[in-house]
Amino acid sequence: MSTVKSQQQEALARLGSIATANESLAQYTTYRVGGDAAVFASPRNEDDLHLVAEVVRDTGLPTLVVGRGSNLLVADAGFAGIVVSLANMAEWVRFEDVVVNVGAAMALPVLARRCVAAGLVGFEWAVGVPGSVGGAVRMNAGGHGSDMAASLVGVHLLDLRTTNNAWVAVDKLHLRFRGSDIADHQVVIDAQLLLQRGDTEAAEATLTEIVRWRREHQPGGQNAGSVFVNPIPGQLAAAELIDKIGLRGFRIGGAAVSEKHANFIQAGENCTAADVRAVIEHVRAEVKRTAGVELRSEVTLVGFDDLPWANDVTLHHIGIAL
Ligand SMILES: Cc1cc2nc3c(=O)[nH]c(=O)nc-3n(C[C@H](O)[C@H](O)[C@H](O)COP(=O)(O)OP(=O)(O)OC[C@H]3O[C@@H](n4cnc5c(N)ncnc54)[C@H](O)[C@@H]3O)c2cc1C
Repeated sequence: MSTVKSQQQEALARLGSIATANESLAQYTTYRVGGDAAVFASPRNEDDLHLVAEVVRDTGLPTLVVGRGSNLLVADAGFAGIVVSLANMAEWVRFEDVVVNVGAAMALPVLARRCVAAGLVGFEWAVGVPGSVGGAVRMNAGGHGSDMAASLVGVHLLDLRTTNNAWVAVDKLHLRFRGSDIADHQVVIDAQLLLQRGDTEAAEATLTEIVRWRREHQPGGQNAGSVFVNPIPGQLAAAELIDKIGLRGFRIGGAAVSEKHANFIQAGENCTAADVRAVIEHVRAEVKRTAGVELRSEVTLVGFDDLPWANDVTLHHIGIAL
């Protein structure tokens, strides 16, 4: 048996009932494409999560944390390491006046509505972002003039390689436009937000308006939102560049540039991750050729190590020392 196979077997044996072998990752991403996870771990509590970390430390297998998979493209070959989902342990929220403590698996749209219902304002923007709190912290998700950095106080972070776990204040996370210093082997367990008391009726109207705006401007179905980071936020939009060169609707296999929003790629029937990748590469090459702009991926690419630009330091970091 190869070393990697025996490490996978060891991981499965030690994780027991909280792990499964060869779990399809397509079902955990909004693109609904991609291969299997060799080991898929679903800890039920912090003790289980700590065990996952010990197994990662001892086997040296690579790791991937999956939130709601709304910013992930996983290659068809899958992931040969340990995928960790906090869905069974971190979907909770506690309000203490204007402070919100929330588990990393909580869905942003649900949290946005719960905050407004609790009389708090400042998190309405998140109602249209289909991610989890953990994924949103790592990506510094944002929209409608705000982002996670605007209200985040800090997070409990676990390093799967060292098994160290610490409270990390927001300034140490180095949140920036759609990124942070959190690495692939680091897990946001929960987060603390600071909001304000405000006008609930006005906040409810904002939620309704954001949902309406999203339906009007963005496609539904299988996609991962914006594929490329806007080259100059607020000034030069990736969608405009792509649209200008007539790539709306451009298709390879089951993947196509959305007709509704040129920075979205839709995965259709029989789509593979290779199809999505091929469309991404074509769009990127054409924008470079015609406009001289090198677009950077906003989607987290997993298992595309042969794409030199997929290993962009803005996507994969050495992490935060805990
Ligand atoms: C229709 C649509 C619209 C969207 N609109 C927006 C938008 O307006 N603004 C925006 O910013 N994004 C948008 N997105 C992208 C996406 O929703 C966000 O990036 C979101 O924050 C990703 O969260 P997730 O839980 O789905 O993360 P995933 O896709 O599961 O993971 C994304 C990254 O975060 C990491 N991660 C996930 N959970 C954790 C955790 N607990 N600890 C550590 N790392 C973790 C993953 O390893 C990966 O690197 C959109 C996506 C879709 C499909």
